[in-house]
Amino acid sequence: KLKQPRLPDWLKTDIPAGQNFSKIKKDLRGLKLHTVCEEARCPNISDCWGGGEHQTATATIMLMGDECTRGCRFCSVKTNRKPQALDPHEPEHTSEAISRWGLDYVVLTSVDRDDLVDGGSSHFAETIRKIKTKAPHILVECLTGDFGGSLDCVETVAKSGLDVYAHNIETVEALTPYVRDRRAGFRQSMNVLKHAKEVQPSLLTKSSIMLGCGETDDEVLHALEELRKADVDVITLGQYMRPTKRHMKVHEYVTPEKFKHWETKGMELGFKYVASGPLVRSSYKAGEFYISNMLK
Ligand code: SF4
Ligand code: SF4
Repeated sequence: KLKQPRLPDWLKTDIPAGQNFSKIKKDLRGLKLHTVCEEARCPNISDCWGGGEHQTATATIMLMGDECTRGCRFCSVKTNRKPQALDPHEPEHTSEAISRWGLDYVVLTSVDRDDLVDGGSSHFAETIRKIKTKAPHILVECLTGDFGGSLDCVETVAKSGLDVYAHNIETVEALTPYVRDRRAGFRQSMNVLKHAKEVQPSLLTKSSIMLGCGETDDEVLHALEELRKADVDVITLGQYMRPTKRHMKVHEYVTPEKFKHWETKGMELGFKYVASGPLVRSSYKAGEFYISNMLK
């Protein structure tokens, strides 16, 4: 049986807090909004929310509640086949709050809602349109599920005025059936990313892979190549961290050197940007890169 390896030094971080941090936290509670930053106890939270003088403040907001109809083996979100009904005021409230926070970049994500006819795609799209109306300077990234493979739903979000369309493949093809919920699929995810770009070519598309789940180098390379074939622009690679003992084990802690290797390889393959490191998360400091390089 696999033993859980020890946490190496490069993964230990402090969790300090800044002013922006407290302001956002207070508002979120009032609005009953959830953030991935908090739910996943992301180690980068003060960096991301704090912004600071030369940084771009980023937060990842979770729409449509905190209960997911799926159950992936790495994810700490609660599973419920029938989550609460959508809050019809959420797009308005969320956009109102976001426009007050002094963020430059916001990532909207959600649980998977296989129980809704359109997977929540119109709810996403409405929220984006409202943010762009109230605060046109804020760059918006959406990190969506696969909408059960419905390309119509992908199109609804892709054409709503957002800047970056993200959908995470999470792992290599061979490990997908083990790591992700059975309704997810490697090919299905590739089609989501490909379609978003086809219907809205001005979008940046983006995906993310967790390393340390037992994947081989060849499998990682294959995943990167397939993402490029789907014309994906940005890829992030980070270390899988087990949220609780009930979740799948970490197979290994991948070294910083290995992450560096994937960064180089990714650039060679033609990605416009690669963020690769033990602490990199799908949305880590997303704004800084995009604002300075691509969306000006
Ligand atoms: Fe977590 Fe997303 Fe999987 Fe739901 S679909 S269990 S939110 S990773
Ligand atoms: Fe939130 Fe993503 Fe930053 Fe973590 S990396 S704090 S999840 S925005």
